[in-house]
Amino acid sequence: MTQTIHQPARHIDVVDRSDVVVVGGGPAGISAAVSAARNGASVTLLERYPYIGGLAAGGMVLVLDDMINELEVTVRGICMEMIERMKVWGLCVTPTDRDRLIEFRETPEAWQRWARWGLFDFHTQSMPHPICFSAAFDPDGFKRAAYDILGLAGVKLRTHSWFSSAIVEGKTIKGVICQTKAGMEAILGDVVIDTTGDLDVAASAGASHVESNFILTTVSRWGGVDTEAAERFEREDPEAFKLVDHEAKRLIGGCWSFWWLKTPLPGVVWLNCPHMPKLSGLKVEDLTQAELEGRARIARLLDFAREKMPGFEKAYVVDFAPQTGVRQTRLLEGDYVVTKDDVMTRRHFADTVCRGRDYYTPYRAMLPKEIDQLIVAGRHYSATPQAQKSSREIPPCMAMGEAAGVAAVVALNAGTTVRRADIKAIQKQMRAQGADPGDVPSENATYLEAAE
Ligand SMILES: Cc1cc2nc3c(=O)[nH]c(=O)nc-3n(C[C@H](O)[C@H](O)[C@H](O)COP(=O)(O)OP(=O)(O)OC[C@H]3O[C@@H](n4cnc5c(N)ncnc54)[C@H](O)[C@@H]3O)c2cc1C
Repeated sequence: MTQTIHQPARHIDVVDRSDVVVVGGGPAGISAAVSAARNGASVTLLERYPYIGGLAAGGMVLVLDDMINELEVTVRGICMEMIERMKVWGLCVTPTDRDRLIEFRETPEAWQRWARWGLFDFHTQSMPHPICFSAAFDPDGFKRAAYDILGLAGVKLRTHSWFSSAIVEGKTIKGVICQTKAGMEAILGDVVIDTTGDLDVAASAGASHVESNFILTTVSRWGGVDTEAAERFEREDPEAFKLVDHEAKRLIGGCWSFWWLKTPLPGVVWLNCPHMPKLSGLKVEDLTQAELEGRARIARLLDFAREKMPGFEKAYVVDFAPQTGVRQTRLLEGDYVVTKDDVMTRRHFADTVCRGRDYYTPYRAMLPKEIDQLIVAGRHYSATPQAQKSSREIPPCMAMGEAAGVAAVVALNAGTTVRRADIKAIQKQMRAQGADPGDVPSENATYLEAAE
């Protein structure tokens, strides 16, 4: 039996108060905070680490994908704004313009030019996969763009603030408590948005959820890579390349088809591997094991690549992502639970407030059943584990965050609860700020009655 200790009750200082408190400064949290602040709310954004950006920065997940329905860009708004900002600094790469892509995207030339950036539609069966609108970016560029838009929107940022428990009165969340270097701190708000990715706030508040897991990854970046030589080898000697690549993949012990991808920094590649299954992103023991095992596998791979792979002779590790690559942990069981079928059949809902690739997210999937004034946005939204696997990319999480920020202000302005927020008003405001609320289903969508 686990030994337990009891702590005496404590007095905790209230250090801040806002209309909207956003917990978790990743892609969903940044969008939620900016969106709520631009709509006139006072907003506090809390983040456990010294920096913001979540998996897109500290996790060094460096491709924004899942944002197109064939040629239609479905995730716009704040996500697109971040892309545009990073492009100005040369810290983001997107494929050629839309018009050229129409005729160009399924040709071997397009594949040759863009595949090693990871800018292709991996959901299609056809090979080579079509090149699509998506963005390869630099993690520090992501942070810089996020700090800029948060600052301009007037969001109060509190980093080094590790959420530890929800303050709930009756059924309503009133704020949160964070662990900091200065001790426990309370931050109060009329609406709280949980964007921790692991559902920390909603779970602490007592919201129904399931626990699941998917592969963990210690992402790394390597420098000193002659990417042109590596691509030339792949192109000009495919048989030899296959053998070396196969051995590299064996040493990694689990990865997608491309184990290295280019980044906007010359000679620097990122490795979205290894895949480490059956480990929980919630358990200290498993996270520690992932760090040690991931590093060991990458060290083996580096030795091999330096010896056997043209272009990698002088490669070295630039850094390991400070944030462990956790894809799935707790998932909300909210007013509606999105299923894999919903995602795959592109089911449209009357309360759709944002979109991913070609699928739609109902507002009810962002609302815990039991708790009022709490909205959930990001990779822990209300979806089955299978559905989450194909709807958790960075752009859709940003779209969800943007919708959550709008919904909070729509409810506050109307003097009602977030559960009663006017869906049409949320959709209208999303459109007004350049986002796609998914209120107009595309031709390939299916329809589900709103009552479901
Ligand atoms: C290895 C890997 C590869 C991936 N590849 C891709 C890809 O190629 N393209 C793509 O688009 N997506 C990819 N994804 C998915 C994508 O990165 C995530 O689903 C997305 O970042 C989720 O965004 P989020 O804001 O919901 O959560 P997160 O990015 O996890 O952000 C959560 C934020 O909350 C903070 N936080 C957590 N707990 C607390 C707490 N208790 N107190 C305070 N702050 C807290 C975290 O520090 C973090 O800043 C990948 C994911 C992984 C792990």
